[in-house]
Amino acid sequence: MSIDKIVSLCKRRGFIFQSSKIYGGLNSVWDYGALGVELKKNVKNLWWKNLVHQREDVEGLDAAILMHPAVWKASGHLDNFADLLMECVDCKKRFRLEDVKDKKCPECGEKLTLPRAFNLMFKTSIGAVENEREIFLRPETAQGIFVNFANICQTIHKKLPFGIAQIGKAFRNEITTGNFTFRSREFEQMELEYFVRPGTDEKWYQYWVKQRFQWYINLGIRNENLRIREHPAEELAHYAKACSDIEYKFHFSSESENGVWKELEGIANRKDFDLKQHQKCSGEDLSYEGVIPYVIEPSGGVDRAMLAFLIDAYYEEEVKERKRVVLRLHKDLAPIKIAVLPLLRNRPEIIKTTKKIRDELSHYFISKYDDTASIGKLYRRQDEIGTPYCVTIDVQSLEDNKITVRERDTMKQERIGIGKLIEYLQNKF
Ligand code: ATP
Repeated sequence: MSIDKIVSLCKRRGFIFQSSKIYGGLNSVWDYGALGVELKKNVKNLWWKNLVHQREDVEGLDAAILMHPAVWKASGHLDNFADLLMECVDCKKRFRLEDVKDKKCPECGEKLTLPRAFNLMFKTSIGAVENEREIFLRPETAQGIFVNFANICQTIHKKLPFGIAQIGKAFRNEITTGNFTFRSREFEQMELEYFVRPGTDEKWYQYWVKQRFQWYINLGIRNENLRIREHPAEELAHYAKACSDIEYKFHFSSESENGVWKELEGIANRKDFDLKQHQKCSGEDLSYEGVIPYVIEPSGGVDRAMLAFLIDAYYEEEVKERKRVVLRLHKDLAPIKIAVLPLLRNRPEIIKTTKKIRDELSHYFISKYDDTASIGKLYRRQDEIGTPYCVTIDVQSLEDNKITVRERDTMKQERIGIGKLIEYLQNKF
């Protein structure tokens, strides 16, 4: 399925807009509209539930985006978080080394300069005087966890192995952009640092690769579109003992028609690299239970996961000779759970009852009232945004106190007593 259809749906229905569009837009920065913000929240909440709330061995953290610049020196980002770029001598455009084929500009065919390192961190300054002290917008959330390691050990008293999880914004001044939200300059990460005793790291690494793969499958990604790619030795960072990417088969219009496998999340065995570096650079003792723990890091992107969920759920079908677009999102991901609709728009009693039912449902589910079109259109609109159930109130409802519940995927309809509706729907979720 081509990404273009998703881009158009996202814009049309208010999932995702380009940032600052009325001023011409800011490249590779995105705003999430009414439905987008709900879907994104669901992705984050489901990750948090699975990794923090449902586990005894993981606690959460919310560290600041701004950090002491020494953090980035210790982590290696200041010196190494760079893309190798070549610049066209003619059109001056810059390209990543891996995107250049025969040392010629991919745009105009002219010569390129030799590759130069370009750091991806955004700079800003802190304090009242400009340039008083240069600091960076964090390019990943993980360092906030490492620099709080001692604080956390002292306050939560967990035994190894245990993890610290964080979701938050990260910023990278990416060079190759495009492909919608896949590579953004401002995005959100969901990261877990799972600290283990050296010697048990290989077992935990395998464990987390499996767990994280299954998370996407459980939330509806089709098996044939998801794979685990283990990095060969030559691709590993010097500090990593092993790394696997969970990849989704995207169909970006700029790339191969058969789809390209692209990273949604990486799971790395980082050994004791990060804690050792921060111990060395800060002078603080970061050992715990007599060792510097090894760390297994599942690191995923919220925006990329959301994009994959949207693409994978998108179907076009022919129903009674009419095209229907349906997002078969997992019910837990759906931005709106229940739409409450009046069959007739010109009957005040129906409208009143419909609104009353919607108010009651809103205590239990994210639900929306809509009367701005005919019922056929209203159903199609809800299908297109992935709403699992529509509840419809008609003339007969006023007499027999029953309403119709329509299911998104099968389009089957059932009459349910109003008094039983909440229980009926609760059983469905
Ligand atoms: P890529 O090679 O695709 O740039 P990466 O290997 O640099 O990704 P990591 O540093 O491992 O990515 O970051 C962990 C996760 O954060 C990625 O798997 C991805 O989901 C997300 N992520 C990283 N960069 C971006 C970006 N520019 N836009 C959106 N999500 C991103």
